[in-house]
Amino acid sequence: MDAEQLREYGHKMVDFIADYYKTIESFPVLSQVQPGYLRDLLPDSAPNQPDSFQHVLDDVQAKILPGVTHWQSPNYFAYYPSNSSVAGFLGEMLSAGLNIVGFSWITSPAATELEMIVLDWLAKMLKLPEDFLSAGQGGGVIQGTASEAVLVVLLAARDKVLRRVGKDALEKLVVYASDQTHSALQKACQIAGIHPENCRLLKANSSTNYALSPELLSETISHDLTTGLIPFFLCATVGTTSSTAVDPLLSLGKIAKSNGMWFHVDAAYAGSACVCPEFRHYMDGVEEADSFNMNAHKWFLTNFDCSALWVKDRSALVQALSTNPEFLKNKASQANMVVDYKDWQVPLGRRFRSLKLWMVLRLYGLENLQCYIRNHIKLAKHFENLVVQDPRFEVVTPRIFSLVCFRLLPPNDKDHGNKLNRELLDAVNSTGNVFISHTVLSDIYVLRFAVGAPLTEEKHVNAAWKVLQDKATSLLGESFC
Ligand code: PLP
Repeated sequence: MDAEQLREYGHKMVDFIADYYKTIESFPVLSQVQPGYLRDLLPDSAPNQPDSFQHVLDDVQAKILPGVTHWQSPNYFAYYPSNSSVAGFLGEMLSAGLNIVGFSWITSPAATELEMIVLDWLAKMLKLPEDFLSAGQGGGVIQGTASEAVLVVLLAARDKVLRRVGKDALEKLVVYASDQTHSALQKACQIAGIHPENCRLLKANSSTNYALSPELLSETISHDLTTGLIPFFLCATVGTTSSTAVDPLLSLGKIAKSNGMWFHVDAAYAGSACVCPEFRHYMDGVEEADSFNMNAHKWFLTNFDCSALWVKDRSALVQALSTNPEFLKNKASQANMVVDYKDWQVPLGRRFRSLKLWMVLRLYGLENLQCYIRNHIKLAKHFENLVVQDPRFEVVTPRIFSLVCFRLLPPNDKDHGNKLNRELLDAVNSTGNVFISHTVLSDIYVLRFAVGAPLTEEKHVNAAWKVLQDKATSLLGESFC
C-alpha cells in the first residue's frame, strides 16, 4: 500500500463518484444492455503489465456504467431501495481502509465492541425489548443480508429443538410462515435440511391484506401435532416484499410460544420506518419474538451490506455455529470474557461494517432519520393519490409504508389485465426514465412503486407518473381516455 498513491488516486476516485451522483439522472435507470454485452468490450485475459488509473476510469465510464442499473437514481422505484449516503459511504471507505477481519474480539477489539454498542443504540431507537440488548443474554449482530439472518436463527432453533427431542427427529421438524414470506426462508430451510414437505407456507389473501392469519396457523399446527410432527419455527414479516403486509406479531407470537417454537420477525424493509413513533405499532408483539431483523442497507441510509439481527438468547446461536480450532484460541475467548462474532454467523471472516452504521447514526441523528422516512412515505402517499385520481388505474392493496401496489384496469371485464400490465411495465422501464417492478397477488399481476431512493423528490414522482400515464394511453388507445 503506497499511501501517496492512495491519496492521489483516492481523490480522483471520490471526484469520479461525486460527478456520477451529480449526473446520475442522465443515465437510463434500468440498464438497457443485452446479455453478454461486456465480453465484446473487454480483453480475454488480464494485462501482463499495469494499466494506467485514468485508462481504467475511462473504461468504467464507457464500458461499465452502461451495464449498471442505477439504484441510487432518484427515478428508481423498483423492488425495495438500497440506500447509499455520504455517511454510509465514508464508513464503508474507512472500513476498506482499515481492512480488518474481525472474526474474534482479539482480531480487532473495536470492531466487535462498536458493533455491540451500535446495535444496542439501534435497538433502543426501535424500542426493542431489553432482552435484545447486549447487557443481558441477548444482543445484536450485523449479518450481510436478511437471508443470512434467517438462516442463522433457523439453525439455532433447529439445534435447540433437536437437543430436546433427539437428533433423529430432523425429518419431523416443521417451519411455518405465510406464502408472502421472502424466499430467503425457503432457501434457509433447504440449507438447514428441513424437509421441503415440512415447510408450511400458509395462504394469505386480500381478506387479511396478505397478512398471516393466526387462526389458520393454529389449525395447521394442531393438525401437524396430531400426525406426530414437531412445529419448531415461525417466521413473521413486518412489511412483506410483495405488498408490505404486516403479520399480527402479538397473536402469532403467542401461538409460537405456547407451542415451544422459535419466533423470528423479518422486518428487512419496514423495520426502518419503526424508528418513527407513529409507525412503531407495526412492531407491537415483538416482545414475543426470539429474533428480529431489519436491513439498515435498504431504507436507512447505510450502504450495502448491513443487516441488523437481534436475538434474545445468544447462546442458541453460539451453540449452533461455534467452532474452536487451536489456531484461533486466545486468552480473552478462552476465558469467555468477550463476544466472538464468528460464532453468530456462517463465515469466519467479517468486515468492520459497524463503522458505516455508526457514521450514519452520528452524522444524521435520529430526528433526521425519522424525517427521511416520513418524507418517503409522504411521497408514496402523493403517488397513491395520483393513481386514485386516474379512473384507468386502481390501487390494489392499501398502502402502509412507502410502497404503492397498483395496476392499470383492463378495458373489459373478461380480461384479467395481466398481459396489459406486463406490457405497461416493459414500456415504462424501456424508456430508461424510470424503473419500477412487479409482483403477483392472488393471480393478479401488480405494479410496485417503491419510494426510497435518497435523492427522490416530488418532481421525480410526478415525472414517473407522467411516463406511466403516457404509456397507458398508448397501450389502451386514445379512445379509452
Ligand atoms: N425479507 C424481506 C421482507 C425482503 O423484502 C427482502 C428483500 O427485499 C429480504 C428478506 C431479503 O433480503 P436480503 O437481500 O438482505 O437477503
